[in-house]
Amino acid sequence: MIPLVADPATRQPRSGRSESREHVELRALREQQPELAHAVDMHLELLDVQRRVQARIPLPSFDFNARVVTHHQNTARPVLRFEDIPIELTDLRLVVRQTIDILRRFDALDAAEVQQMQALGRDEVLLSVVADWYRATAERHVTASVAATAPVSVSRPASTTAAASSSTVDQVLTVAIRPFLSRCAETVQQRPELALWEHPYCLLCGGEPELAVITPAAERHLICSQCGLHWKFEPLTCPFCRNSDRSRITSFATPDGQYRVYGCDVCTRYLKAYDGRRARRPVMPVVDGVATLPLDAAAMQRGYT
Ligand SMILES: [Zn+2]
Ligand SMILES: [Zn+2]
Repeated sequence: MIPLVADPATRQPRSGRSESREHVELRALREQQPELAHAVDMHLELLDVQRRVQARIPLPSFDFNARVVTHHQNTARPVLRFEDIPIELTDLRLVVRQTIDILRRFDALDAAEVQQMQALGRDEVLLSVVADWYRATAERHVTASVAATAPVSVSRPASTTAAASSSTVDQVLTVAIRPFLSRCAETVQQRPELALWEHPYCLLCGGEPELAVITPAAERHLICSQCGLHWKFEPLTCPFCRNSDRSRITSFATPDGQYRVYGCDVCTRYLKAYDGRRARRPVMPVVDGVATLPLDAAAMQRGYT
């Protein structure tokens, strides 16, 4: 892979030609389903911020080979340490600030939340708050699966963010750290060692799946909500509670067959999937996330959360 190096001083304003496939698809979605316009517009803006920053993030370097992945598979721990993420503090501040501004303008944060998060964005301790948040996120599954043998203290970000609710912090930091994590995911996405990982959360960052894609070979690949990595997982096991009793998984498709929902009748959570077997384009988590907002409503109506 060739690193994309862009000097901020010489970068050209984005022209129509360099518009990403996601932009084109999001605009088409807005034409077809005007009721999704608000969500489409917010995601177009978030995408712009992420793309601008992502283009100048250096390629990360961390150990990734069969021995490393096997070790992490056995200990149930995600591979990517916070120190390995190529975060430039100036860029992180920029993304945090712009993300808060976009979420505020689209009414996704209220005034009090905006104030608390803005204080965090200016704070000297931003990097250590993000580090604590990342480590807590990456380790939360470890405590669940191997708590008895390896106790790990999981704490929410403290100090300046104590006033902001953890869901607001989660919401903003998940978006703000995405360009940096995506850069890491890109570098390993094609690696065969990914097949060694069998857990239902991301092997790189520990994120939960936000979407799945059904491949032409009828495999189900989960897609990380934080870094966008795809990895293979059993097609009919709930990734949230690992229930594999098929009679307790309810699966239904949209009329056009493009999307599927798997609802788990044990933990009542659900996962949406893009059916790549009859698709005209590859899965695009941002686009498919917005396109399936009506499916979220349908799943919730059936009692899933
Ligand atoms: Zn991830
Ligand atoms: Zn479940």
